[in-house]
Amino acid sequence: MRLLQCTTGREHIQHLRIVLLIFFTTIVCGAQSTPLIDYHQHLLSPEVAKLIGASGTFSASDLIAEMDRAGLRKAVVLSLAYQFGNPNRPPVQDEYARVKAENDWTAEQVKQYPDRLVGVCGIDPLREYAVAEIERCAKNLYLRTGVKLHFGNSDVDLDNPAHVGLLRKVFQTADRHHMAIIVHMHANVTHHRPYGKKEAEIFLNQLLPAAPHSVVQIAHLAGSGGWDDPATDEALSVFLHAMADRDRRVAHVYFDISGVAGLGDAWESKKDEIVSEVASRIRQAGVRRILFGSDGAWTGFTPVKAIAAYHQLPLTKDEISTIDNNLAPYMKVTKQR
Ligand SMILES: [Zn+2]
Repeated sequence: MRLLQCTTGREHIQHLRIVLLIFFTTIVCGAQSTPLIDYHQHLLSPEVAKLIGASGTFSASDLIAEMDRAGLRKAVVLSLAYQFGNPNRPPVQDEYARVKAENDWTAEQVKQYPDRLVGVCGIDPLREYAVAEIERCAKNLYLRTGVKLHFGNSDVDLDNPAHVGLLRKVFQTADRHHMAIIVHMHANVTHHRPYGKKEAEIFLNQLLPAAPHSVVQIAHLAGSGGWDDPATDEALSVFLHAMADRDRRVAHVYFDISGVAGLGDAWESKKDEIVSEVASRIRQAGVRRILFGSDGAWTGFTPVKAIAAYHQLPLTKDEISTIDNNLAPYMKVTKQR
């Protein structure tokens, strides 16, 4: 007050200008807060584009352009090689040769931007070559960071003990090679495979102990994109309870939030409900376990759009800043390599 009384009219305006400048800079900088890393990205090779009937391809340089538009420094590129084992597609000839070629193509793409991209090996965990392919990827600098599993696309049924047995071998192999496990754990949606509390408990009791040293990144907050499936929340709750109990089995579990905000039929109609529920689950997990991700950009859901949707979650500035700067342990290891 005293300061204002002592200032002349001109100084007063100058003072006001500075205050306004700081105020608007804070707002603009707040809005520009951007995640450092996109933890869930894919490329689209000519081979996979043909397989899934996509009209174009999406290369590392296409991804870098999208990352630059969004202000993302790095991205984790998950190989789509598991698509060749997808049992819900017509079988392909020389399947394992094509899986290897796809993982190698991904590695070659990532290699072009070693400071920006980190590659992850893709496999169908139920195939007889799964362990051999992880061993092979473990020797490749551009694939050895981790393994990507897609339970929906590989039609994994956690209620089937034979599937659990194969998955345990995959988890043990990844763990032995210090590879992260990035898993879309939601069961197949098209065939309405069972998914919920029971399956998440099998994951917690039988799979996580098989990889006690690996970072396990559960994709899409345990869902399959969007946030409108009670089964997803049921499955997620199993992990959230274990986290609240400081259960050692979940000490290395992280969640990526790719495809959660901004996607799904309910996003526009039930947005308020969705954003508040997602924000509350994020808080229950603890923001340090949450990794930003946006998923394949060729679908039109670009990182710019994914970040805008993520910013609609009612999180505090501090919470957003923690998520934006989270460094999963496997990224720290990559840094040292
Ligand atoms: Zn994905």
